[in-house]
Amino acid sequence: MDKKQEEQEQYDVKYVAELLQYWNAYMSALIDEIYTGVAVNLGLKESEAYKLATKHPATMQKAELWDSILSRFKNIFHYKVPKFRYKEKIYGSGKPLTPRQWRKFNNAIDNYWSEYADTVAEDVTIKAHILGKQTTAFRKKKKPYQNQSLHQVIADQYNGKMPSALAQAYKKYDFNKSEKNALNKTYSSIAMYVKQSNNELQEAIRQQIETGIKENKSPVEVGSQLFWNIERDENLTNRYSAETLKKNWNRIASTEMASIYEMGILAPYEADAMASLKDPSRAQYFVRIGGTCDFCVSVRGTIARLIPSSIIAGENTELLSDIGIKDPNTNYALWIGKNNIGRKKQEWFHAVCPAHPHNKATMQPINLDEEYYNSKTDDVEHKQKKYKFVPQQIDYAEKTKEEIDSNNPKKIGNDIVQFNNNIYQAVDAAQYNFKLDEWKRNTSNPIPVNRESPSFRRIFEEAIE
Ligand SMILES: [Zn+2]
Repeated sequence: MDKKQEEQEQYDVKYVAELLQYWNAYMSALIDEIYTGVAVNLGLKESEAYKLATKHPATMQKAELWDSILSRFKNIFHYKVPKFRYKEKIYGSGKPLTPRQWRKFNNAIDNYWSEYADTVAEDVTIKAHILGKQTTAFRKKKKPYQNQSLHQVIADQYNGKMPSALAQAYKKYDFNKSEKNALNKTYSSIAMYVKQSNNELQEAIRQQIETGIKENKSPVEVGSQLFWNIERDENLTNRYSAETLKKNWNRIASTEMASIYEMGILAPYEADAMASLKDPSRAQYFVRIGGTCDFCVSVRGTIARLIPSSIIAGENTELLSDIGIKDPNTNYALWIGKNNIGRKKQEWFHAVCPAHPHNKATMQPINLDEEYYNSKTDDVEHKQKKYKFVPQQIDYAEKTKEEIDSNNPKKIGNDIVQFNNNIYQAVDAAQYNFKLDEWKRNTSNPIPVNRESPSFRRIFEEAIE
């Protein structure tokens, strides 16, 4: 995907865009601070080192100043960007550092990084998730919310204070189980990315210093090239500049932010999604909106039904019919935690946000009785008149007990259950893949269900004789 196009994708919701802006600014400030500390260690004056961080030496173009962004949000976040200073000489003593000395230096970076970067990552994670739920609440109340700032939302909806740690939020608010699972999972992948960029940072600094020694440069020379490293072959050295590390981080942050935020949007509907398995009138639908790349444009307007993530066994399909659900409105399933990680582009799920790195498309709830997706505005709009082909809704209030029972999974043989017009067969975990392949070749056979999977519990343990 085109780099420029990626960066153009913007959140149309101001408070989440601002949260991302703060995160990027803070992490960039930390990276700059470590580079500055290294430049000072190499013999640059502090003022010179800071100047280097903010000005591109070839073009003299000003790089972004983080201070103004950080101070804009200082009433919300109280995180500091303390100085990173390492006292022992890392270059200039005449000999290269021993592995042990490198380890010591890297430990100093580790400590600095984990104290500041980790804390902010957790704070941003939980805020992004809660803001996703907030967006859902705004949409339900049909309130205009897109132009609300982070300050405004926190002041109006959270009495000026939003949780800054997961444990704190779990205590204060009601989080359903699948929401917690998905959030914990995403948070640990964020923690992994934070650690990974720490490793890249250490590698970048070491690489530049060792190259400097090899090329017999003075420590001050190496120090002044640290930030940009423009003198040499672009592809090779740019990897190690502070600029590149910041760009890489921004890419990770925007992708991770999008997935936590989207999870927050879906979470409030999880109970309805569960109930809809027995009572289809409670089904919740979403439509995919936004995104600017060829993929996103091609899947705009895709309608999907939310299903509880507990009935997803493996993530090989996004089709409702494959999970045994017949839906008159769509054959796309959506669930909390759905993603395209590890899939090739040709195999990307359609009804998922984010679908790819840097993606800020969103799944917007849609009430198919009253609303429709307008492809011209790429938005959900109210129907003027009653839509002609609204699928007939069965009035479940009128149902007799037998009819309700027929909606439950029904045991029809040993390890065989009928449910939602499908026949399922329980199979042992070891046999599952084999049975699944067999079934794919002949789909008129019973659909295999792994005994170890959550769907097994859902379909077989609740089945009536
Ligand atoms: Zn896209």
